[in-house]
Amino acid sequence: MTNKYMYFIANWKMFGDLKSLKSLDKVIKFSKSKNIGKGRLIYCPPYTLISSFWKKFKNCQIDIGGQNCHESENYGPYTGFVNSRMLKNIGANYVIIGHSENREQGENDKLINLKIKNALKAKLKVIFCIGETLVEKRKKKTQSILTKQIKVGLYKIKNKSNIFIAYEPVWAIGTGIVPKSEDLLKTIKFIKSKFKDKPPKILYGGSVNPHNIKILKEINNIDGFLIGGASQSSKKFIDIVKKTYT
Ligand code: PEP
Repeated sequence: MTNKYMYFIANWKMFGDLKSLKSLDKVIKFSKSKNIGKGRLIYCPPYTLISSFWKKFKNCQIDIGGQNCHESENYGPYTGFVNSRMLKNIGANYVIIGHSENREQGENDKLINLKIKNALKAKLKVIFCIGETLVEKRKKKTQSILTKQIKVGLYKIKNKSNIFIAYEPVWAIGTGIVPKSEDLLKTIKFIKSKFKDKPPKILYGGSVNPHNIKILKEINNIDGFLIGGASQSSKKFIDIVKKTYT
């Protein structure tokens, strides 16, 4: 059983509509109960729902984040995009940057670095995703990939106090497969070792659900979880938090 502050970040990806808001009532009630322990809840809905989530969560302690942002610090002629200032302005306090689903669309470490810098300037907390693909894992390149992602992604960012690193092995996302505990422990340790000073908080993401949380919560160097599929069910999301604290 853990007694530390743990972060539970719900990544709704491209799911959810106005009807989904009702399902959050359960989470709001839960967030006000004792069962939440020291859990901190953050929801990252699609852009279209941020404003509605903000209204819904106004009187509770659930935070909101964007799922990505444009790299430009300023407004500009970028059709279809949203920057970090706009996210902050609409009530978000967090933003996910570097998710593998965005990296697959062509986002590279340099672009991610720019996004992170401007998100920090906009006073957002950054959930910086890193992780190796299955091919890279098989070629035993996990550590070199993570090193590069961290080195370039956080290039010239001195103050890392508002950065969370989410270790999300690409092969674990949406597959139902999670890393072996000993491997995860080792990788999180490795990530922490990359920081001379106090390391950022490290989250794990990839197929977290109410069943495997019992094993994952025992890995004591993890500061929380980034949860995709399971977070779209309020029941499962609440279960994950509850089981972390029992
Ligand atoms: C994610 O996409 O960040 C994620 C962790 O997804 P899932 O939980 O569905 O694997």
